[in-house]
Parts: sequence; C-alpha cells; structure tokens
Amino acid sequence: MSQVRVRFAPSPTGPLHIGGVRTALYNYLFARKNDGVFILRIEDTDQTRFVGGAEEYIMDSLKWSGIVVDEGINEGGEYGPYRQSDRKHLYRQYADILFDNGYAYYAFDTPEELEALRTESEKEGKTFIYNADNREKLNNSISLSAVEWNAKLDMGEPYVIRFKMPHDEEILFNDLIRGDISVNTDALDDKVLFKSDGMPTYHLAHMVDDHLMKITHVIRGEEWLPSLPLHVLLYRAFGWEPPLFAHLPLLLKPDGKGKLSKRDGDKMGFPVFPLFWPYGETAKGYREDGYYPEAFINMLALLGWNPGTEQEIFSMEELINAFSLERVGKSGSRFDPEKAKWFNHQYLQRRTNNQLALEFREFLRAKGFHVDMVRLEILTGLVKERISFVKEIWEQTDFFFKTPDVYDPEVVKKRWQPDSEKILKELVTVLQDVEDFTSTATESAVRTWIETKGYNTGSVMNAFRLVIVGTLRGPHMFDIISWIGKENTINRIEKGISEIGR
Ligand code: GLU
Repeated sequence: MSQVRVRFAPSPTGPLHIGGVRTALYNYLFARKNDGVFILRIEDTDQTRFVGGAEEYIMDSLKWSGIVVDEGINEGGEYGPYRQSDRKHLYRQYADILFDNGYAYYAFDTPEELEALRTESEKEGKTFIYNADNREKLNNSISLSAVEWNAKLDMGEPYVIRFKMPHDEEILFNDLIRGDISVNTDALDDKVLFKSDGMPTYHLAHMVDDHLMKITHVIRGEEWLPSLPLHVLLYRAFGWEPPLFAHLPLLLKPDGKGKLSKRDGDKMGFPVFPLFWPYGETAKGYREDGYYPEAFINMLALLGWNPGTEQEIFSMEELINAFSLERVGKSGSRFDPEKAKWFNHQYLQRRTNNQLALEFREFLRAKGFHVDMVRLEILTGLVKERISFVKEIWEQTDFFFKTPDVYDPEVVKKRWQPDSEKILKELVTVLQDVEDFTSTATESAVRTWIETKGYNTGSVMNAFRLVIVGTLRGPHMFDIISWIGKENTINRIEKGISEIGR
C-alpha cells in the first residue's frame, strides 16, 4: 500500500475544542504508528466564520500537546499551500469538471426565495429538500433552457453550483469504525459545492485537497458521517479512488446527555479548550489550569479509544505503539473532569521533588518569595502525595511562608484549653534547648517533655499546630517547624499565645 497520509483539517472559527485536539491526536497516532505523514490543513473557505487568532491557537495547541505536524503552513511540504484560502484558484476547475459531465448544475435561486420555500414547507409540516423532487421547478440550469441560463451568466446574476444528487439510489459505503452503511439518495439534498462569493464549500474543497494531497485515511468527527454518502458520490463522479474513512465518536457531557460544550465547562469549572482563549468571550485552558500536556493527552487518548488492557498511563510513544482504529468505540465517550484531574495527579507523582520544586519556584517568584532549591525540594516532598497540580503546593503550604494572622475560631473554641498558654510557654523553653533543629531532634525532645509531664499528646499538639499554622491542617508538625526554623517557630508560638490568650 502507498504511504499512509492523514490530515487534521480544522476551520479557524474560534478556539479549538478538546474534541478537535482528540481528532488531531488520533490522526497523529495513526500516522506515526504506520510510518505515515501527519498534515495540518487550515480550512478557511467560509469567510463569514473566520475568527482572528484561531489559526495561531490551533498551531499552539498542537505544539503544547506534543503533536508534531509534518506538513502544514509553517512546515511546508510538497503538497502545499496548506491553507485553503491560499488554494482558492484551484477549486473552480473541479466544479467545472462536474458541471461539464452532468454531475452539477448552476442554481440562481436567491437566499430569500429559498427561505420562502422552507417556510412554506414547514407550514405543511414538511422539510424542504433541494433535490430531484424539486429541482425542475426551481431556478437553475436544469429547469431553464441553455439560452436562459447563459443569459443569466452573461448578466452576472449570482449563482451557486450544486451537486445533482441521483434519484432513489442506494449508496453503500464503509466506515472503519462503524462498518458498512447504506443510505438512499432521496434522503439527501443537492448540496452547494461552489458559492456565489467565488469560494468552494467544505464539501468540494476538502475532497479536492484530500485527493491532491494524496490522503489515504480520513479520520474526523462523527458530525461528518451524514455527509459521507455525498462525498462517496463525488469521488465516483470525479473517477477518483476514495480514501478510507473513520468517523470518531462524540465527546459527551459528564452526565452523558449530549455533546460536551463550553457551557458545561463554565458550569462545572473545567476547561473544554487546551489553552486559554484570550479574544472576545474568553475561555479557560488546560495549560493555564496547570495540567501537564502529557496528562492532558493521555486523558484524551482514552476518551474513545481503549488499549484492550488495564493499562491507563501511556506516554506518547506508548500510545503510538498501542493505537489502532479497530479499538476506537462507536458510541460517544463521556467526559469526566475528575478523571482528568486524576491523570494530572498520576503524572505529578511521577515527577521528582527537584522537578516540582523548579516548577513551584516559578509560582513563588510571581508571589515575591525567593526560596533556595534545597528547601523547596523538602517542601514539595512533604505535600506531593496530596496534590494534583503544582499550584496546590501553595494551597497546602502557604503557612510555611506566612505567620498566621488569624486563628481558626472553631479550632480555638474546641482546642484552646485553660492550660494551653502555660503549656506552650513551656514548649518554647523545650524547643529553645534543641540545638540541631531537625524534625527528628525536635520531635524526640517534645515527646520526652510531654511524657515526663504526663500531658495529653493530642491537646498539646493541637494547640501547637493552631499557633504555627492558624488551623488544624498541614503535614507532620515537626517537618513544618524544622522547615520554618527555630526562631520563626518560637515567634509564632509567642504571637499565638498573646493573640489567642487575650
Ligand atoms: N473543516 C472541517 C472541520 O473543521 C474538517 C472536517 C474533515 O476533517 O473533513 O470539522
């Protein structure tokens, strides 16, 4: 077989949805697995839907995700240009071929006329379809004589070129994921192939490009499955060998009801886009929310594809090795925001304390704290197991950096006892005598003192934690005080006594 060539062909109409990233990913995995080529083609023939910044966003998203483009607008390649608006001059000749061979015709109906026909049909409870049933009654080169329609062309009347859908024909075709499908052409309409603005529609443009770019497999979203019979007929009309098709299942809302949308993300607080979208109505991104691209990709890979084993954690290399279209499911995959976090947690656990400290250092710098790496590594090691994101290190350790200025009133009420002040004052003298202020040395000194005095460990430790942290949370107490140091520990105890004891 010839070399595998696949393409991801987004339209730059806004930020790229994570469903789009998954389509790109499956194309990429399929290409790599089969020693093929992965192409990025920008489909911008619908000028009314063009959104500035979207093209850059698509490329940045793929780059961040680790999906490497072989041929595209930046990469070049022998089948360029890779942006449809730059290929504009190519398409008309193909519409003409179809016209010349009787597969297409000129239609002069105005948008207003078509709208009126639709409304009329609706009133009768029907749907208007521009096809073999109606076309002879409408305003086109089939219903009009050659003299009439030529006169219209000469006068510069606007027109579109439509595909002439055959009447009552059973179209059989195959989808690699869904198997054999058959559709009767009477359910289909005479789709516009070429618009009055001189641009092709998606249907014509993508086919011409797939053909010229020698695409072997079209892997795309399920929303294009209903158009497949038309595409199959177009391939036949041109006499071209069609590629193989694979239509990917939808990404569903967390409750499984309907397609995952930005609104679901806004409601439940998770992003549905890879990167922050800064234009107009802004949108959250996985990158800015602190996800690792590897975790994001791993999560997406498993939304629709399964390896057939229990393995859940896959590097990109492992995905490439394991991937096959046969293991892509037919039904929609429910998106689970908690599972997304779980993946990030797993990837974070695999990072060393040193890596995490480096990442956290950036975060701290932005807050104006400068801490040496050795101390940061200790800190990240203390909280690593409890967190899923680097920013959570701060949520878990903010009190390491700041002396509490409020003491949780609930805890004060329940845990601050009449003798707490006296005991903590004794604790200060105990700690003052510890020369080497390590976690183990302080712990053994404090435990010996508690035992000798016959104090209740729980009450002492609660009061102690309250004055150091401000509430009852955080890692092992002696790890905390050893990190913040003797002086700071004693200051905090004294401040706590004077403020809570009042
Ligand atoms: N431009 C289409 C889209 O954005 C591409 C569909 C296809 O891959 O054929 O969905």
